[in-house]
Amino acid sequence: MANPLYDTIFGRHAGQGRTFLHLQDGREIGYDGFLAMAAKIAHALSAAGLRPGDRLAAQVAKSPEALALYAACVQGGFVFLPLNTAYTTEELSYFVEDSGARILVCDPGAQGALAPLCDRLGAALLTLGPDGSGTLMQRAGAMPENYDTAARSADDLAAFLYTSGTTGRSKGAMLTQDNLLSNAGVLVDHWRFTEDDVLLHALPIFHTHGLFVATNTLALAGGSMIFLPKFDLDRVIELMPRATTMMGVPTFYTRLLGDERFTAETARNMRLFISGSAPLLAETHLEFEARTGHRILERYGMTETNMSTSNPHDGERRAGTVGFPLPGVELKITGRETGEPLPQGEVGIIEVRGRNVFKGYWQMPEKTAAELRADGFFITGDLGRIDADGYVTIVGRDKDLIISGGYNIYPKEIELLLDAQPGVLESAVIGVKDADFGEAVLGVLVPKPGARIDTDAVMAAMQGSLARFKQPRRLEIVGELPRNAMGKVQKNQLRDRFGG
Ligand code: ATP
Ligand code: MG
Repeated sequence: MANPLYDTIFGRHAGQGRTFLHLQDGREIGYDGFLAMAAKIAHALSAAGLRPGDRLAAQVAKSPEALALYAACVQGGFVFLPLNTAYTTEELSYFVEDSGARILVCDPGAQGALAPLCDRLGAALLTLGPDGSGTLMQRAGAMPENYDTAARSADDLAAFLYTSGTTGRSKGAMLTQDNLLSNAGVLVDHWRFTEDDVLLHALPIFHTHGLFVATNTLALAGGSMIFLPKFDLDRVIELMPRATTMMGVPTFYTRLLGDERFTAETARNMRLFISGSAPLLAETHLEFEARTGHRILERYGMTETNMSTSNPHDGERRAGTVGFPLPGVELKITGRETGEPLPQGEVGIIEVRGRNVFKGYWQMPEKTAAELRADGFFITGDLGRIDADGYVTIVGRDKDLIISGGYNIYPKEIELLLDAQPGVLESAVIGVKDADFGEAVLGVLVPKPGARIDTDAVMAAMQGSLARFKQPRRLEIVGELPRNAMGKVQKNQLRDRFGG
């Protein structure tokens, strides 16, 4: 095939007359209209000087045009680099410069601030507003509806996706056509997507979850998406009866459960709810099932690996676990220091290998060499274990591991106990500097709405349940945990605030 990713995911829908996007204003965009939009954009980009293999960076609001910009890049062979809409101009400068992007597409309102940067770097600047306004679509408007799809091989780069930056500065993960296409194929099969599926899409599209896991999977299956600009609780509750599936971060599910309008009736046409990007509390899982009759299917992945594990579609979806390695993905647990496989049941670093695993970090050869082994295993930096039935549980990130007096402390173990205390909505456990032990445990607690937490009682409960070295030295109460756009708790910020 000339361009495996484009041809398989997008091109083959040409002329079928099927719907691709349902918009909240009632409009529908068919695959044909979407492909025409992408082709026009590909022409505009090519006319602006972009050639196959060149990078295009985009910091734009979620819209059908923004999604078509991704499809246009795949068709033109341009490497797509979507950027978090929350990044400031200064943060953006780093990504544009680091990636060597030849075109930057930004919101019309940011043009003035970004023009000097583009001038300095010799990059072209185009604009795209949430409503399709701006120079990109103006230029695309006059272009033909067919584009000569650029020939690409499975090993060519399709995207640079920057990681969420939860643990530090985001890294550009180089993803090939095959990384994306193979994973989408696995997910369609594993989660049983068909052209009858309607996915409720409320995730951002600058991240692997909303862009690749959701969009590639649905497009490969030939299904459609209710494409919302963002997660808006009212809209999600209103439109869910028209959907068959939803992919979300755990906060979507906790917010739904927090609203009594959300009932089994709302979910009457749903066949599958999927969660990922951050841990889903077992409590959320159980409460969701009690409310709707559906067991949320939790899966695990990363920017660098696409999706690696998933709970089963048909078998038991086990709360607190991320299920089994997906077909074609090898997963092992290795010692933090030795790098050697550990006996079943022990906690260690999760390593994965398969067609899903990226090519390396852009312009970070040392980091790539340190994390991507010569034999193809990627050292994820997540800590986990595999239970006797083969289910994988993530216990946290290696970077969040607390080492106190020479003992390893996994924050998750303490967080689960803290979460179960009266009045506690959720918690985060971090290590703070300690003169005697190197690090000591600090628990940050968020009260349930209207509740008061008795910290003395919580401390007493910890003393009764945990070995002394694991007991929190201090408890702090906050209104909410700092989270990034994907709902991930930013423990860096907690460490900065509470003296990590
Ligand atoms: P950075 O690498 O820049 O610090 P990040 O790791 O948060 O940011 P992503 O690639 O978006 O960036 O997220 C991948 C991480 O998200 C995984 O390594 C894992 O820690 C976490 N994650 C994803 N799914 C789950 C899940 N179901 N349960 C627990 N953690 C998850
Ligand atoms: Mg990461």
